[in-house]
Amino acid sequence: MSIAQNLDFYRAELAPFGAMLVAVSKTQPIEALAEAYAAGQRDFGENRVQELMEKAPNLPGDIRWHLIGHLQTNKVKYIAPFVHLIHSVDSLKLLQEIDRQAQKVGRVIPVLLQIYLAQEETKFGLDRDEVWSLLQSEEYQAMQNIRIEGLMGMASLTDDTQQVSREFAQLATLKQELAQAFPENEYRRWQHLSMGMSGDYPMALAQGATLVRIGSALFGKRG
Ligand SMILES: *Cc1c(COP(=O)(O)O)cnc(C)c1O
Repeated sequence: MSIAQNLDFYRAELAPFGAMLVAVSKTQPIEALAEAYAAGQRDFGENRVQELMEKAPNLPGDIRWHLIGHLQTNKVKYIAPFVHLIHSVDSLKLLQEIDRQAQKVGRVIPVLLQIYLAQEETKFGLDRDEVWSLLQSEEYQAMQNIRIEGLMGMASLTDDTQQVSREFAQLATLKQELAQAFPENEYRRWQHLSMGMSGDYPMALAQGATLVRIGSALFGKRG
């Protein structure tokens, strides 16, 4: 299957749910991204700043770049001028730095809060208490150059589809609770649930994903 054919397949999968496809292009060569672009794909997800900075100048300027991997505060400045959406905000400190760099370049940067869902120990993300205290903090409430647009989460890597569904459902419920407790304003919208990857996107769609991040199933195995 070509990348264009794969794109057609996933667009058809997502369309009934109104969800958007983020093509996860990490470790893929420029040619693979260009092929997806030619087939109409505009949203691409990368998990490393350095790789993103190498690719972006070599591809068309209307690509919407999503940063989906763990972001170190000292790298924010590189992507602040152009990043479309940062999915992986996992601390107040990181959010403060995004706000600061966004102000420097005169932007409001859209972000998602990454929530810790999986049972594995290694995953990044905020837990329920942390997301709550972040949103209540004075530091957050003073920020004017970020806009929180929803939540992102990664489910456990397991064949237990019920567990994966349960974790996605927890993320959807948390978003509803936060939307109640922290009403929308200029700097806060609750429209996005970024969840689902190649192996678990059907469960994510069933639980209300609006952004689905698919890599290997679209581009083939990573090198
Ligand atoms: C790599 C990655 C994906 C895509 O994973 P695939 O299994 O290749 O679809 C999605 N989200 C994040 C955060 C990733 O790092």
